[in-house]
Amino acid sequence: MRRITILGATGSVGQSTLDVIKAHPDRFQVEALTAARNVERLAADAKAFGAKLAVVSEESAYGALKEALSGSGIEAAAGPQALIDAASRPCDLLMAAIVGAAGLAPTLAAIRHGTTVAVANKEVLVCAGELVMAAAREHGAKLLPVDSEHNAIFQVFEESQRDAIDRLILTASGGPFRTWTLEAMKPVTPAQAVAHPNWSMGAKISVDSATMMNKGLELIEACHLFAMPADQIEVLVHPQSVIHSLVGYKDGSVLAQLGSPDMRTPIAYALGWPERISAPVKKLNLYEVAQLTFEAPDPVRFPALRLTREALSAGGAMTTVLNAANEIAVAAFLEGRIGFLDIAAIDEAVMGTMTGAKAGSLDDIAYIDGEARRQALARVDGKVF
Ligand code: NAD
Ligand code: MG
Repeated sequence: MRRITILGATGSVGQSTLDVIKAHPDRFQVEALTAARNVERLAADAKAFGAKLAVVSEESAYGALKEALSGSGIEAAAGPQALIDAASRPCDLLMAAIVGAAGLAPTLAAIRHGTTVAVANKEVLVCAGELVMAAAREHGAKLLPVDSEHNAIFQVFEESQRDAIDRLILTASGGPFRTWTLEAMKPVTPAQAVAHPNWSMGAKISVDSATMMNKGLELIEACHLFAMPADQIEVLVHPQSVIHSLVGYKDGSVLAQLGSPDMRTPIAYALGWPERISAPVKKLNLYEVAQLTFEAPDPVRFPALRLTREALSAGGAMTTVLNAANEIAVAAFLEGRIGFLDIAAIDEAVMGTMTGAKAGSLDDIAYIDGEARRQALARVDGKVF
């Protein structure tokens, strides 16, 4: 029996993780589940899966959680420290599926306990990749990529042949506005932006997919997870989302992983690793798909990729800045406070004001992250970017 803790259990990845666990009652048991504030879902799942602990990060939701779990024997806790404590409890695998840099502290806590971490929460690596990777090396914590592209690469990346690998190719669906002009993208609503053509996901990553910032964040994520320089990582638009990513070897071979666009495949790969286990997904039918097509990303309509490459080459803490500004800008767009194209404009403006930001420690990162959020909020409020 493998004991699993899920951070962000009530979200899209968290729920898909529970789906995979449900299909293997003889293999997995749930240790702890956490959420921001969705008490109803969290309590129902904690009971259904026999979790030992349920945590809400929102302190004000504690009373409701305690009441919902009364008589069940499941421990209830709340607040940021409770989240860290939950992640520090011994388990065989922790699924990091919180959205945003809010997942950094608990994910790092698990890593520092040497726990195997399945990483869906890409912002953790964008915000503090060097620190996180160093902690994983120091504490012998294995990181298993869950993001479908990185999971695909992980499946075909022969570590023993690392010297023979000359490039990674990240595929991108192009999002709902792949073929739209800038003019047409200007007035899009949050509802239009979160309606992804292939994947069903949380609101933040859906907006990131629409701006293609998601691919930029994934580029940074890939640099850290696979210790590859950004100039050896290409982005290829592939609207069908069937080839999840590719690894190019110096003899000209290119290996890819294919599958239906369903997160339960990469999640099952991570939960079962190094074994393969079944997943409750629709089998890929290439005859039905019929065509796999490819395009180059358009840097004019989608500036996000350029911004991430600039952040990576600036080095220091610029990816921390980019991530923080983007989290604020996406939230403001979802609240109807700024337009769709303003997201990248705010990201770029905040990066411009924070050149030279350096981060040696977690405290530095927290400071820079906070400062970038303040800068971004000032731009949202003042409508100047
Ligand atoms: P989601 O919004 O559906 O769920 C987020 C989860 O995190 C929820 O359980 C929520 O309660 C919790 N949460 C939110 N804010 C929190 C906070 N401040 N403190 C503690 N908990 C908080 O998001 P999602 O789509 O499941 O994505 C989760 C992560 O996985 C993101 O980093 C995303 O980029 C990544 N990811 C998602 C998918 C996907 O298909 N959804 C695919 C690849 C990667
Ligand atoms: Mg992805």
